[in-house]
Amino acid sequence: MAFGNFGKKIGEFAHNTSEKVSDMAETSKLNGAIGDRKAEIQKTYVEIGKRYFEEFGGNPEIGEAYRADCETIRKSLERIRWLELKVLEVNGKTVCTGCGEEIDATLAFCSKCGTKVALPDLASMPGADPAEAPKA
Ligand SMILES: [Zn+2]
Repeated sequence: MAFGNFGKKIGEFAHNTSEKVSDMAETSKLNGAIGDRKAEIQKTYVEIGKRYFEEFGGNPEIGEAYRADCETIRKSLERIRWLELKVLEVNGKTVCTGCGEEIDATLAFCSKCGTKVALPDLASMPGADPAEAPKA
């Protein structure tokens, strides 16, 4: 009788264990689906924000709640532009103001479109490093 009871317990253990493994697999699958939806929402939030910025970011009538965030993005875009031009300058390159081609900064005229090469004044550009900006 004691042995029969032991056998029953083993059977219950095996049953419970396989049920638990199955529950864990189901939980993992459900959590994966939740994660997928959350990631999709995050991606969509970012896209909405980007579209909002592109459509309304430059509008001075923009809502108070968005003004500071749009300003942060605008300043970062200016800084990125400045840093990209600085990378070119460090490497003896510049961007043609006529066609946008990356060209040698020592050229007098763009080798692609013939526009006179004008080197950007990085110190006075928006996005300039404060250390490089002209002293007021
Ligand atoms: Zn050009």
